[in-house]
Formats: sequence, C-alpha cells, structure tokens
Amino acid sequence: MKIIRSLKEMSGFSRKAHVKGKSVGFVPTMGALHEGHLSLIRKARKENDVVVVSIFVNPIQFGPKEDYGRYPRNLRRDSKLCEKSGADVIFYPGQKQMYPLNYKTYVAVYDLSNCLYGKFRPGHFKGVTTVVNKLFNIVSPDNAYFGQKDAQQAIIIKKMAEDLNIPVKIKVLPTVRERDGLAMSSRNAYLNKEERRDATVLNQALILAKNLISQGNTSSSVIIRRMKELINNKKSARIQYILIVDPNDLLPVAKIKDKVLIALSVWMGKTRLIDNIVVSL
Ligand code: AMP
Repeated sequence: MKIIRSLKEMSGFSRKAHVKGKSVGFVPTMGALHEGHLSLIRKARKENDVVVVSIFVNPIQFGPKEDYGRYPRNLRRDSKLCEKSGADVIFYPGQKQMYPLNYKTYVAVYDLSNCLYGKFRPGHFKGVTTVVNKLFNIVSPDNAYFGQKDAQQAIIIKKMAEDLNIPVKIKVLPTVRERDGLAMSSRNAYLNKEERRDATVLNQALILAKNLISQGNTSSSVIIRRMKELINNKKSARIQYILIVDPNDLLPVAKIKDKVLIALSVWMGKTRLIDNIVVSL
C-alpha cells in the first residue's frame, strides 16, 4: 500500500492522475477503519480510476475535554484494510504539516454548524469543514465519499462545496450497521460489555420513530417522547438530544409533512454515540 505523508507529493500524485485523464475518488477518515469506512472505499473503487483514503485524526475538531488523545490509531491495520478494499494510496499527513505554528485560517458553514451535534460540540464542524477543505485542496478529488452515519456532517460538507465552488461531487452512502443494528463507529471500541449491549437502543428508537410515522403519527413531540421512554429504559444510556428536523436546513419540524431527519445523540457511559434515520411520510 502506497502511503504518502507529504502534502506536496499528494498534490503531485493527483495532478499526474488528472493529466492522464484519470478520475480521483477520495475517502477522508480519521482511521480506526471499520466496514462503514470500507463501504465508502469500495464504492470509490467502483466509480474512479484512482482511490485515495486520508487518515488524519484532526485535532481542531475535538474539544479540549474530548477524546483526541485516546482516539484509536493503528496505521498497519488500516493500511491492510485499505489495500483489501481497493484503495491505491493512503494520505497520512502529519499534524505539523497540516497546522504549522502560524496557522490562521478556518472555514465555517453558518447556521448548519451550530445546531444538533454542533450545539453540544462547539467548534467541531468548523474543524471538520476546515480540514475537509484543506484535504480537498491537496487531493483535488473528482468524487468524495461520506457516510450518512454523520448526516449533519454530510449536509454541511455538501453546502461548503456548493458555496465555495469546489469542483468535487459529494456522495453520501448508507450507514453500515452491526448485526444487532448498532451503527458502526470507531468509538464503539470504548464501550464496555453492558454499554455495548444497551447501545442497540439507539437504532431501536429510530425504528420505533419510523414505525410510528408509518402508522400515521405526525407529531414530533409525541414521537420524541416515545423514543425517550425506550432509551431511558437502558441503565447506561443518557440522552443528549433527539431531534426531528428538515434535512435541508436542519430546523426542527413540529408536524411531519414531508421528509424528515431524525437524529439522536446518546451518552453510553462516557461514550457519546450518534445515529440517525431519514423518513419520508
Ligand atoms: P470518521 O473516520 O469517523 O471521521 O469517518 C470517516 C467517514 O466514514 C465519514 O464520512 C463517516 O460518515 C463515514 N462513516 C463512519 N461510520 C460509518 C458507518 N457506520 N456507515 C457508513 N459510513 C460511516
């Protein structure tokens, strides 16, 4: 597996591919790869001549008391998985190369970044959009692949690419789940046995919401109340938020008429898990 650490070498690699008329598919990740990431890599493999996966635990998207230091890192394992899934290159930049001492510039998508998950992680999405913008500039992908698991992130990145005229197509792929329905996440590794067992309630609550809507319930507050009751039955679960919003502007919807995004964030012990579902009436 080819691993590129230098920003210049990465840009050069993509430039050469483009000169040869090849398309570049790009999957940005923070590593600790699982089937969710691999589904993005496989799709990129199918749709592009060259596939680049970046692995960079981006310090500026973590709050001061968050898990930046203990976020799982394992390049050797990730590299094998990337190779198996059809990636050509891992872009593995260093922190000092991405953010030299005199670093000053940030990219922020207004309104969409300070609600839902962004409300509880101030500055998180500014960190995400800044790094993704930098990565887009370095890798110059034709297509970039993101997971529906991080629905708000995907919506924000689409908006950023549109507003900043970045010539990349953003593709959002379905959430990959464990057999018991838990959305795959690098952070699931933090869960103890009991928390892992209880964590299935996130997906169960989303399915309950979907069923309630398909039975004709359109009141968000009623649906959210039922979801809360279900989740609160689990000892290790503490709800941070459950919201039913318009997937375009992320504003809360009181009465469901159309397509809605149902998003939740739940602490399982000391680990915060997020999940979501899009439901059309
Ligand atoms: P991360 O390494 O957590 O920053 O995630 C990198 C990319 O993988 C993001 O676009 C995520 O939305 C996506 N991703 C993470 N978990 C999943 C999942 N379970 N299913 C699909 N995509 C995922």
